[in-house]
Amino acid sequence: MTRKILAAANWKMNGSRTANRAWTDSFVPRSAELACNILVCAPSVYLSDLDRAFEGTKVMLGAQDVNEHANGAYTGETAAAMLKDVGCEWVIIGHSERRTLYGDSNERVAAKCRAAHEQGLRVVLCVGETLQEREAGTTIDVVTEQLQAALNAIGPQALAAGALAYEPVWAIGTGKTATPAQAQEVHAALRDAVRAVDPESADALRILYGGSVKPANAAELFAMPDIDGALVGGAALKAEDFYSICASAQV
Ligand code: PEP
Repeated sequence: MTRKILAAANWKMNGSRTANRAWTDSFVPRSAELACNILVCAPSVYLSDLDRAFEGTKVMLGAQDVNEHANGAYTGETAAAMLKDVGCEWVIIGHSERRTLYGDSNERVAAKCRAAHEQGLRVVLCVGETLQEREAGTTIDVVTEQLQAALNAIGPQALAAGALAYEPVWAIGTGKTATPAQAQEVHAALRDAVRAVDPESADALRILYGGSVKPANAAELFAMPDIDGALVGGAALKAEDFYSICASAQV
């Protein structure tokens, strides 16, 4: 099955109204020429601005996290319905920075996936091992357990309506990229884990690689059979670099 490449930008806690306008002015007018699907995940405060900037274009909008509750006394948090309300179609859940810095356990990630799914948001579920876990030979066990928690919560079809992102923690923001072969091995194992539950969803599911993706390495990653796109941090802050990464996708 051919899966269309999805190039997703994760701006993290970066940007300003001025910088975002410069980015969209550079990227959006040329986005129609790109063959892949495109997603930009931005800080919550800028989502409304970006919804306007992306209106009528092929660029999709996403948030970087969501609270697991529908509404209520959760100071500082953002509900899934609010993200929908300001134009988001997607949300990243379980990013390693959320897992390590803000205590997002597999259980909390699962609850967030459920909350997002109930509001019709498409989830980019992030999984990935630390360097210690890789060196201990437990990579596949760790990522499969992370996947399973979310899979139990929302099921394979909802997962396939979104995307899975394999992001080795040791490769995020470090300049160290997993080799295409290393990434392919984990992507194939993740797809097999979904196939065990629902073969059709496994074939449809896009599995993105994340971890120091840049214009120079995107094409070789996209060439692997189970790598269906990228989740891009640092390089996505420059419109030109993100454009080059998107342009590396042939399908
Ligand atoms: C990320 O934060 O999802 C990421 C992959 O970051 P970077 O591309 O900077 O490694």
